[in-house]
Amino acid sequence: MPRSLPACRVWRPSSAGPVIEPLRIDLDAQGRVGGLARGDTNDVLPWAVPGVANLHSHAFQRAMAGLAERRMNPQDSFWTWRETMYQLAARFDPELLRDVAAQLYAEMLEAGYTRVCEFHYLHHAPDGRPYADPAAMSRALIEAAREAGIGLTLLPVLYMSGGFDGRALGDRQRRFGHSIDAYLRLLETLRAEQDERLRVGCALHSLRAVPPDAMREVLAALPADSRIHIHIAEQTGEVEECVARRGARPVDWLYANADVDARWTLVHATHLTREETKRIARSGATVAICTTTEANLGDGFFPLLDYMAQGGRFGVGSDSHATVSLVDELRWLEYGQRLLHRHRTLAVDDSTRSVGETLLAAVIRAGADAAGQGSAVAAGVLQPGADADLVTLQAEHPALYAASDADVVDRWLFGSNRPAVDAVWVGGLQRVSDGRHLQRDALEARFAAGMKRLLAD
Ligand SMILES: [Zn+2]
Repeated sequence: MPRSLPACRVWRPSSAGPVIEPLRIDLDAQGRVGGLARGDTNDVLPWAVPGVANLHSHAFQRAMAGLAERRMNPQDSFWTWRETMYQLAARFDPELLRDVAAQLYAEMLEAGYTRVCEFHYLHHAPDGRPYADPAAMSRALIEAAREAGIGLTLLPVLYMSGGFDGRALGDRQRRFGHSIDAYLRLLETLRAEQDERLRVGCALHSLRAVPPDAMREVLAALPADSRIHIHIAEQTGEVEECVARRGARPVDWLYANADVDARWTLVHATHLTREETKRIARSGATVAICTTTEANLGDGFFPLLDYMAQGGRFGVGSDSHATVSLVDELRWLEYGQRLLHRHRTLAVDDSTRSVGETLLAAVIRAGADAAGQGSAVAAGVLQPGADADLVTLQAEHPALYAASDADVVDRWLFGSNRPAVDAVWVGGLQRVSDGRHLQRDALEARFAAGMKRLLAD
């Protein structure tokens, strides 16, 4: 392992606003940041930013990108998309999951993500029976992450019922299901295997898939610092059903029935009242906004400006992976608000007037915490002890010619029409060079063979 990363002009968030300075990151024996050596401000160096965590992923869905864009029904929605997704999910085994995930994770690294929170519910064989090793599908994801070299926060999903009425899982959902005991055993098995690169948290699929008593029992059994992710309020249908069955909107119900704090990540949280928006912001929870997937599925707009005004924390996730682009997630987070409000430069905070810097700082800090990388300050901004996850931008790139400290992030996020990521390091190890993952060809060959197998009649 190299003892230090190449010197770069590193942009990073701080409590007083973004700072940019020439730095050489020295590594400790575990590939963490050991120390920072400051260079001469006049040095000509490549720009770099800290790695970003992708807060929400269902890796197998990478295989269906572009396969649900044909109108099958005038009422096409999330719910009809889900039918296509279930058909595809039924064809996955551990080997195919590993090969699709490894391709996806390499693509994430090329996009500038250095860690992924994998919201994993494809646990068992298609008929619902556990594999000989009940963690076989989890291990496929762990292997994929190791091959690609991305940091993995594995979030095994508890999925118990097919709706708010507590109905049993349907045939195609059977491979997602666990009893509470079996679920806690899976978490325990996987937690014992954690290392620098692998962290294990907990995911509750959604309020409709986890009965209230089961939720309480599992939450009580978790380690005190466990990260907890949950899909919530993505669909208006889900909100209405929750009101009908539990007498409250999903976020209101969750806050009344669980101790929601900074350990929690609420995925989507698209349909909120002002009071719910304020509640999430005040609790310190993170919202994982999945802009490109929410657009693809026609979910709706997250109330970003209201939430930011309350100091709410958020990260981004590529979720269904129709798009795997950090640039697109952040750019469209802002563009969605511009289209809604018919104004420009909206998502800004007090520390910088730059939209790009505001958004990037937010997702770096909240993302590291939500992914269990330690406190935002320690993990997100390359302080000693943090993961040495760094992304450099191409020196010779049309979006960045004659860039300055003040405009480099905005030019990357709003002006690059081809990918501008140059090199990527995760835990001090280089995984991407010249914009290409170092194992791109080998991983892509396996992905190609897997896709042929998946889509064969
Ligand atoms: Zn999801």
